[in-house]
Amino acid sequence: MRLDGGRTLAVVGESGSGKTITGRAIMRLLPRGASARGRIVVAGREMLSADERELRRARGSDVAMVFQDSMSALSPYLDIGAHIAQAVRLHDPSVTRRAARARAVEMLDRVGIPGPADAVRRFPHEFSGGMRQRAVIAMALVNRPALLIADEPTTALDVTVQAQILALLRELQQEYGMAMLLISHDFGVVGSAADDVLVLYAGRQAEYGSLRDIFDHPAHPYTAGLRAATPRLDARLDTGGERTRLRAIPGAPTSLRDAGPGCAFAPRCGLADQVGERCVVEAPLPTVRPTSEGGGLHLAACHLDRLPATQEVAR
Ligand code: SF4
Repeated sequence: MRLDGGRTLAVVGESGSGKTITGRAIMRLLPRGASARGRIVVAGREMLSADERELRRARGSDVAMVFQDSMSALSPYLDIGAHIAQAVRLHDPSVTRRAARARAVEMLDRVGIPGPADAVRRFPHEFSGGMRQRAVIAMALVNRPALLIADEPTTALDVTVQAQILALLRELQQEYGMAMLLISHDFGVVGSAADDVLVLYAGRQAEYGSLRDIFDHPAHPYTAGLRAATPRLDARLDTGGERTRLRAIPGAPTSLRDAGPGCAFAPRCGLADQVGERCVVEAPLPTVRPTSEGGGLHLAACHLDRLPATQEVAR
């Protein structure tokens, strides 16, 4: 899978599907005992074989991460300016403290924090949630990374601030030409920000494709279930204002550890009976599916060739 500068790949799925661990694997920030296999190349650097020195250089300059909880990314003992200046000097120790502090003021201004010259002297608890998230974005982007991993960057914010933060991320992405990996459980957020979508279930790839293919032509019952559980304004307009019924996916997500030899979604899949024993004994591999006009690669890991047009896809 490849993610080019200026494009956003959303990684979506329920809690425990492996979204956050995917982002952390790219940063090589996995919890103790966990390991990643395969190849991860960011801006030409092999992340999995990089030594600690290379990793320190890569984090922040090649790849940076923004988390859901901005408080956990900030020290209560440092003012906002010190956080950003520290990120500048870690990347380039030859930058003077004064110049790094000036960069912090510029960055706060760029992310829309009013009165940046004063704001650099304020502490994280003096900022609102939305302003803190802007400051964290300033810290992550100050060295212009090639890739930004945004892990549920708007989940803790109210709806209007969510929209502002997503718009800011998109604006900075275009300006800096960086790629973005947007981790989210919210199909609404994904629909407003992504170019391509990777749907994970129980740590495995369920479906991958362009936003249009994933939203309008899902090929995996789990994706179709997520879609059916997301409110759609256009659907309501189509029905002349009638409410369309939202359907939650019943049952609890399976963890990778508990998944058997077959399809991890089988216990919740309304179509498993159509396929029969194969769903229980054989894990489906991602196979190429039809794409809509202008769509790129479309893959789904399901034994069914296509989803029926009308049937409920979750039990
Ligand atoms: Fe459902 Fe079987 Fe497809 Fe899994 S492989 S999603 S159980 S139909």
